[in-house]
Amino acid sequence: AKKQGKDQLAVFEPAMRESFQKHLELEADLRRAVLRHEFELRFQPIVRLRTEEISGLEALVRWQHPERGMIPPLEFIPLAEETGLIVPIGEWVLREACRQAARWNAQRQDGTPLTVSVNLSAVQLDRADLPRLVESALADSGLPARCLIIELTESLLVDHRPETLRRLQEIKALGVRLAIDDFGTGYSSLAYLRNFPVDIIKIDKSFVDDIGDLPAAAALTLGIIQLGQALQLSTVAEGIEDAGQLSELAGGNCELGQGYYFAEPLTTAAMDNLLFPNPPP
Ligand code: C2E
Ligand code: CA
Ligand code: CA
Ligand code: CA
Repeated sequence: AKKQGKDQLAVFEPAMRESFQKHLELEADLRRAVLRHEFELRFQPIVRLRTEEISGLEALVRWQHPERGMIPPLEFIPLAEETGLIVPIGEWVLREACRQAARWNAQRQDGTPLTVSVNLSAVQLDRADLPRLVESALADSGLPARCLIIELTESLLVDHRPETLRRLQEIKALGVRLAIDDFGTGYSSLAYLRNFPVDIIKIDKSFVDDIGDLPAAAALTLGIIQLGQALQLSTVAEGIEDAGQLSELAGGNCELGQGYYFAEPLTTAAMDNLLFPNPPP
C-alpha cells in the first residue's frame, strides 16, 4: 500500500503538486506565525440602531504575514482548524480582545460599558479546558463577564458532542453571553434556539443584502427579529451597508447592527481615535 501511495504522488499533476506545496508552505508559515505573534485584531463597532451609539465591538483576527502582507481569516482559519493551531491562535484572540475591551472601558467615563464579541471555532469547543480559559481571560484582563459575548456558528452546533452543551452552560454560568452567528443560513436554525442557551442572534448578511431588492428577504428578516423578541433575545443585523437597510431594520425594531455603513473593522489605533477623538490643540 505504501508503494501505491508513492506511485500516486508520482502522478500528481503539476498544478496539484503546486497547490499541495503551497498548502505545506502555508502550514509551516502558520506554525511560525504562532511562535512569532504575527496576528492582529481588528474591531468592528456594533451599533444600537435606534440611536446609532456604539454598544460593543466584534474582534476579527488578521494575519500579518511577513512577505504576503495581510491575510484575511477565511484564508487561514480553515487550515488553523485542521492543524489544531486555532487553539493557540484562538486563545490569543480571546485574551487580547478582553484586554483591549477592558482598557477601552476603563478610559470611557460615560455610558454603559462596551461589550466585546469573540468568534469561537468548533475545535476550541472540543477542548475540556475552554471554560477555564474563558474564566482566566476575564480574570487577567479585569473585563466583567457580562461584557464578553462568544459567537458560535450554526455549523458548530450541528453535530455537536454531548460535552458541548455542558461546556457552553459552564461558560454561561460565568456570566458570559452566547450569540448564534450567521443566523438563518443553517438548515435547522430553530432547533438551536431550543437546545442551546443562546442570548443573541446575529442575522446573516445575506438577508440584509437583499432587504431592499427582495420582498421575501425583508419579510424573513422581520420574521427573525420578531422571533428574537418573542424569545427575549437580542438581535444583531450583520453587513449593513446603506441607509435603506438601516431604516428597514430599525423600523422592524432590530436592536443592534454592524456593517460598513457604520464602520469597517478598525485597527486598535483607529478604534482609539473613534472612541476618544483627540481634542483640538
Ligand atoms: P463573521 O464572524 O461573520 O464576521 C463578519 C465578517 O463580515 C467580517 O469579515 C467583517 O469584516 C465582514 N463585514 C462586516 N461588515 C460588513 C459589510 O458591511 N459588508 C461586507 N461585505 N462585509 C462586512 P472577516 O473579518 O474577513 O472575517 C470573516 C470570518 O472569519 C468571520 O465571519 C468569522 O467567521 C471568521 N473569523 C474572524 N475572526 C475570527 C477569530 O478570531 N476566530 C475564528 N474562529 N473565526 C474568526
Ligand atoms: Ca462573528
Ligand atoms: Ca457572521
Ligand atoms: Ca457571515
